Amino acid sequence: MNDKSIDSVLQEQRVFRPAAAFTAAARIKPADYARLAAEAARDHEGYWARLARELLAWHQPFSVVLDASQAPNYRWFTDGTLNASVNCLDVHLATRGDKTAIVFESEPGEVRRLSYRELAAAVGQLANALLAQGIHSGDRVVIYMPMVPEAVVAMLACARIGAVHSVVFGGFSAKSLRDRIEDAGARMVITADGGRRAGKLVDLKGATDEALAGACATLEKVIVFRNAGNEVTMQAGRDLWWDEAIAGQSAQCAPVFVNAEHPLFLLYTSGSTGKPKGIQHATAGFLLGARFTSEWAFDLRDSDVFWCTADVGWVTGHTYVAYGPLAAGATIVMYEGAPVHPDAGRFWSICERHGVTIFYTAPTAIRTLMKFGDVIPAKFDLSKIRLLGTVGEPINPEAWVWYHKHIGRERCPIVDTWWQTETGASMITPLPGAVATKPGSCTLPLPGIDAAVVDEDGVEITDPERGGYLVVRRPWPSMLRTIWGDNARYLATYWAKFDGRYYVAGDTARRDADGYFWVMGRADDVLKVSGHRLGTAEVESAFVAHPRVAETAVVGRPHEIKGEAICAFVVLKGQRPTGAEAEQLATELREWVSRELGAIARPDEVRFADNLPKTRSGKIMRRLLRAVARGEEITQDVSTLENPAIVEQLRGKD
Ligand code: ATP
Ligand code: MG
Repeated sequence: MNDKSIDSVLQEQRVFRPAAAFTAAARIKPADYARLAAEAARDHEGYWARLARELLAWHQPFSVVLDASQAPNYRWFTDGTLNASVNCLDVHLATRGDKTAIVFESEPGEVRRLSYRELAAAVGQLANALLAQGIHSGDRVVIYMPMVPEAVVAMLACARIGAVHSVVFGGFSAKSLRDRIEDAGARMVITADGGRRAGKLVDLKGATDEALAGACATLEKVIVFRNAGNEVTMQAGRDLWWDEAIAGQSAQCAPVFVNAEHPLFLLYTSGSTGKPKGIQHATAGFLLGARFTSEWAFDLRDSDVFWCTADVGWVTGHTYVAYGPLAAGATIVMYEGAPVHPDAGRFWSICERHGVTIFYTAPTAIRTLMKFGDVIPAKFDLSKIRLLGTVGEPINPEAWVWYHKHIGRERCPIVDTWWQTETGASMITPLPGAVATKPGSCTLPLPGIDAAVVDEDGVEITDPERGGYLVVRRPWPSMLRTIWGDNARYLATYWAKFDGRYYVAGDTARRDADGYFWVMGRADDVLKVSGHRLGTAEVESAFVAHPRVAETAVVGRPHEIKGEAICAFVVLKGQRPTGAEAEQLATELREWVSRELGAIARPDEVRFADNLPKTRSGKIMRRLLRAVARGEEITQDVSTLENPAIVEQLRGKD
């Protein structure tokens, strides 16, 4: 044992090589990959400069590549100017103006298509409307919308005039919305009357009114898109309908060319580990990351129909619904509703009907759909899908294999993409035509991304049995620039641990003998049992490998002898067991895990639940489970939980 690193107890041996036919047609073939990796290693800045020149449309070209004078507040391409909406729209009009940019499906089943030309016109009109309402370059605009095309229109309209958008997930409460409006100092909110989710109305305008009541001093205007048709109260002088705002506005709006470093958006992190941080991204660097990773990691090309199921309220929706695929000129799918509405076949039905070729979702969605069994996906024609992706949490090997078999039909590569709100774009992920995959590993860093695993002293760990802190040793263009209004927190959170030398992601990982990365969990969640330090992901994966387990979360609680005992919260594929059945199964699972991982990882306690507490982005909130396991009062804000009622059940009060 070693108290400067983390022990690995789970080893996954399966390897999946890209099919020869996939490789033959791939954008990045093994030889390209080797060449790019060598180029980036030889000349880090030159490599990024070349990509920025080739992949972005500049108004004024840059001459400075990287400005490290205020490190670790790095800045890229600092003397160039450009406009993000030009890069997503105008550049396509001559060659693919009539191509479908967005295929939208509402929860009740209405389908709308927008071509690039129509999308550009809608963006131009709204951008002119924002100008008419007195919004200018640098002003913050909060977007609080359902997953409808107008959410993307609003983002791009802000970008058109240099306004800084901050999208707040439409499922967040009035309080979360208010906190974000106030923190960002927003002058405007763009919202809708309502959204639809799981057959229910989400009263967005009502929540906006509540958020603004007696607060938000900077807020002047609210634009309301008519979506669900519910009754709303409009406040004279403050609120106006989207239709009225754009009436008479020209579809042409001259873009405001901004400096490369001009903030494109603020986005608050999901808050799995504490108070959300307003992550600030820069225009050029972000756009470059979004575009090149869309094309390389997803092998995205003109003929693809790309469906990333993330909401635009998360970074995944910024990078892989809006900016990345649109900059690449692809067709994207947007779906307004819940994955299991009206039944667990909805995702597959959308894939079939719209001919989705690339499908990208979160492990939590995969595990949820897996709970409903194999029969449902088998009913659908998924033959057009050629590539699958996952993001958001470590994916358990068993869920990976299910996805591979029942959705990818053993034909499609899976890209497990590790990245964060802070990194702007994918960082560690297989290039699907060039890199063999292993279930549960996000494989290798993209060329130009200098990721490593280090111990407490910042020394690189190369032993495949040991894990440590996941860090990035060199700056990259799509990295966050700061935390809005709190640079001290930026420095403390991401740089202080290793004296500003490395970007500290806050995750733990290990690298195997092939150099592949295996994310082990969050650094804050490391379990300390009998002198060993264990990552949550390996223990959880061992549980999920049991045929009856759908999902689990493990946390540590103080133990007199061992330091910490492992407490597991388990969701089964069927009913939640009670009484003697629960006791028997708990014993069986404890045995199972200790057989899989060794006696040190044997859980002391197994509790069954109908569900786990998750953020609205579907991530398990382990810090809350820790309080439950320790029998402590819950002091955290639970308003951003997907299912707040579950907390009572977990505490054994239900
Ligand atoms: P907060 O920082 O407020 O706690 P968050 O970290 O959940 O919120 P995001 O930026 O959306 O917010 O999530 C990034 C995190 O998600 C990563 O740090 C990592 O823990 C996890 N993650 C994302 N993709 C993967 C992946 N492919 N494998 C393992 N973990 C992943
Ligand atoms: Mg985070």
